[in-house]
Amino acid sequence: QAYLDRIEELDPRLNSFTQSFREAAMAAADAADERIARGEARPLEGVPIAHKDLLATVEGRTTCASKMLEDYRSPFDATVVERLAAAGAVVVGKTNLDEFAMGSSNETSYFGPVRNPWNTETVPGGSSGGSGAAVAARLCAGATGTDTGGSIRQPAALCGVTGLKPTYGRCSRYGLVAFASSLDQPGPMAPTAEDCAHMLGAMAGHDERDSTSVDRPVDDYPGALEGDLSGKVIGVPAEFFTEGLAPDVERAVRAALDQYRELGAEVREIHLPHYPYAIPTYQVISAAEASSNLARFDGVRYTHRTVEPENLVDMYESTRAEGFGAEVQRRIMVGTFVLSAGYYDAYYLKAQKVRTRIRDDFAKAFEEVDLIAGPTSPTAAFGIGEKAADPIAMYLSDLYTTAANLAGVPGISFPCGFSEGGLPVGMHLMANFFREDLLLNAAHRYQ
Ligand code: GLN
Repeated sequence: QAYLDRIEELDPRLNSFTQSFREAAMAAADAADERIARGEARPLEGVPIAHKDLLATVEGRTTCASKMLEDYRSPFDATVVERLAAAGAVVVGKTNLDEFAMGSSNETSYFGPVRNPWNTETVPGGSSGGSGAAVAARLCAGATGTDTGGSIRQPAALCGVTGLKPTYGRCSRYGLVAFASSLDQPGPMAPTAEDCAHMLGAMAGHDERDSTSVDRPVDDYPGALEGDLSGKVIGVPAEFFTEGLAPDVERAVRAALDQYRELGAEVREIHLPHYPYAIPTYQVISAAEASSNLARFDGVRYTHRTVEPENLVDMYESTRAEGFGAEVQRRIMVGTFVLSAGYYDAYYLKAQKVRTRIRDDFAKAFEEVDLIAGPTSPTAAFGIGEKAADPIAMYLSDLYTTAANLAGVPGISFPCGFSEGGLPVGMHLMANFFREDLLLNAAHRYQ
C-alpha cells in the first residue's frame, strides 16, 4: 500500500512507470500475508517489485515504450517474471525505458523521458532508466532491468542503486522482447547487492524455452555475500582511464579501490588491449541483430497498423514509419546497412572478429585476476536534452559497459561516491563467466 501510494504521489513527476497495478498488487499482497501467517513464506514473499516494460507480462500491457506496442497485451509471462512471482514477489507495475531498450538516457521513450530523482533536471540513464529511478525513489523495493550494452548497470550508476548484468545464459531471455539476441540479458536492480542476490537467486536458472540459457546449478548468492576478500586480485585496466572520463568520477572510483585494498584485496594494473574497440563493435553487432529482430513489427502480427494503406508495401512502410521513433529507425537502418551484401565483410564480419578478440582479452585477464574494476559510466547523470541531439555523444556513455556483453561475462554497478554536483557515481566490477557470487560478495563487502 505504501509503495503504491508513493507511486501515485511521486511518479507524475518522475515518469518512471508506464503503468501500475494497484488491484492485482493488493490481491497478491493479501495472499502473501496469508502465506506468511501460515509460516509458508517463500524467499521474496510480499516484496514489492516492478518489471521493465520490455518483459512480457500477462498483467497490463507490454509496450517496450513504443507506439508500435502501445496497446499490446502479452498472452504469456516472461520466464524471469514467472520465477519472481513463484518466489513470492508482488508486482506493483511496469517501468519506463528507452524505446525497445535503445538508448542511454531514457529520453527515447514514446511515453516521455524519465527524471532522475537525485535531480529531476537530469536523466536517470538508460535504457532501464525507469527501473533505476523507481528503485532510487523507493517506489518499489527492486526492479528487473535488461542489459544489452549497459542498460542495467549505467542507470544503476546514475541513479545510485545496485544493478547486476548476469552472465549471458544465466537468466532466460524467454519473454524479453529481443533487441540484440546475442547480447541481451535480464537482471536485478535494487538498493543493495544483498537485495540483488535475493532477486537473482529467484531469476536465474535453465529454461528449455530459451536454448541459450545454460543448464548449470544456480549458486547460493545470498550465502556468498559475506566471503572474505583477502587474497582476491582486482585488475584495473589502464585503458579505462582515458580523456573521456570525468575527473570527479575517477576520484570516486580510485577512492573505492583504496577501500578494496583495506578490505584485503590486491589491486593491480592490467591491460585489455581491444577494449577501445568495444563501442563500434557493439554498435555494429547490436544494430545488425536489432534490424532482424524488429522485422516482426510489420503491422500484421502486433498492435499498431496504419489506417487505410494504399497497398501491402505501403502498409508495412507507413506502419513502421509511424510506429517506431527516430532512434529505433536509426538502428534499423544502420543494421540493414552493415548486413547488406556489399558491406557485410567490412562491417559485420569484422565486428564479429573484433568481438572474439575482446572475449580473448577477458579470458587472459581472468587467468590472473578475480575481478576487473573501473567506472560504470564516464560521467554522473547529465542534463535532460544535453546529448539528445548527438547520437555519438550518447553512445559514448556506454564506454565501460558494452565489452561485458560482447564477451558474455557478468558485471555489477554499485554506488561508490558522489560527483562534484552531488550526483551518485557508480563503480563497475566484472568477473569471469558465472561468477555472479563474486561480484555480489565484493559489492556487499564494500557496502
Ligand atoms: N545504451 C546502449 C544502447 O543504446 C545499451 C542499451 C541496452 O543495454 N539495452 O544500445
